[in-house]
Amino acid sequence: MNGLDAALAQRRADGLYRTRRVVAGVPQPTLAVDGGELLAFCSNDYLGLAGDPRVAAALAAAATACGSGSGAAHLVCGHHAEHHALEQELAAFTGRPRALLFSTGYMANLGVLAGLAGRGDALFLDRLDHASLYDGARLSGAELVRYRHGDAADLAARLAASDGRRKLVVTDGVFSMDGDSAPLPELAAACAEHGAWLVVDDAHGLGVVGPEGRGSVARCGLDGDAVPVLVGTLGKAFGTFGAFVAGSEALIETLIQQARTYIYTTALPPALAAATRASLRLARAEGWRRTRLQELVARFRAGAAAHGLELLPSSTPIQGLVLGAPARALAASAELERHGILVTAIRPPTVPPGSARLRITFSATHTAADVDRLVAALAGLAHG
Ligand SMILES: *Cc1c(COP(=O)(O)O)cnc(C)c1O
Repeated sequence: MNGLDAALAQRRADGLYRTRRVVAGVPQPTLAVDGGELLAFCSNDYLGLAGDPRVAAALAAAATACGSGSGAAHLVCGHHAEHHALEQELAAFTGRPRALLFSTGYMANLGVLAGLAGRGDALFLDRLDHASLYDGARLSGAELVRYRHGDAADLAARLAASDGRRKLVVTDGVFSMDGDSAPLPELAAACAEHGAWLVVDDAHGLGVVGPEGRGSVARCGLDGDAVPVLVGTLGKAFGTFGAFVAGSEALIETLIQQARTYIYTTALPPALAAATRASLRLARAEGWRRTRLQELVARFRAGAAAHGLELLPSSTPIQGLVLGAPARALAASAELERHGILVTAIRPPTVPPGSARLRITFSATHTAADVDRLVAALAGLAHG
């Protein structure tokens, strides 16, 4: 294993070494971390459902009724009635004819892009798209074209210049590290003009934005013609685990035949599907969670502005404070921790070079006092 130690040492010297924290107990803002307790602002549990006892009870009851595992891939004998019911409920939730469950969002994106595109086709990705979309694009063998972040005019010019046989435009709905939203109506118009299919990965929008949390696409009033492929994940706002693709009958049947990350893997435990059915009901019905998030975000942005902290533009629960060099982000994270606050430093290659940051996220289970504590600690960083 020659060279590994030297490469690890170099990574550490560059401020890019990654480590894990050991958490215990229920996911919640006051988190048991490495034997202590920290007020955390870095999970994707936006609605606070990951620790909800009603969802956990649904998981436990379904585990008793259905066992701990699915036992097989969906196409063998692992496709359980709980999976099937969840797919139907996700299709209804997103207003699409069908939905297909995947084990993770990472696998859904690999399956969709490699399942729908190949040599001779062209994929157009926003520069800030999630890593799993880039990996799926590379796996597909199609030509990969990157367009400027959130720039529909740049996209349109690149679409016009492409001779790809099938063209897919791929974007996050809400960008995972910046928290801003893709200009979906403009992207959809460019796709319509150039005969491209729009793929939206709304991992951070579903449950959080739009009527009843139906996501970025619903918020913009776009239908399945404008956005034929919608990807959602279940481990973020819905507080469980897994992912899905929603779209037409033909899209879902194509993925069942061709998406290798769907075909060659064990189906999710059916109990997880049952738990997600419970959390989906709560996410839709308990609109106060989205209202609370908006209040927390507004309070945070006002407090940050009052202390001269420059946040990235975002109205979602993802709020970025860009610090530049990895060492600065690491030092800020360590200083917050001395105040009992956990915000992980996000560094390249997760974000572009020179834009290491604190990625601050809120959950409906945070309180106004929690936000005030965070603002005070951040103000201390700025002035200290
Ligand atoms: C988290 C995330 C994924 C991956 O989803 P998992 O279920 O965690 O694998 C995909 N896309 C985006 C935009 C994400 O933020």
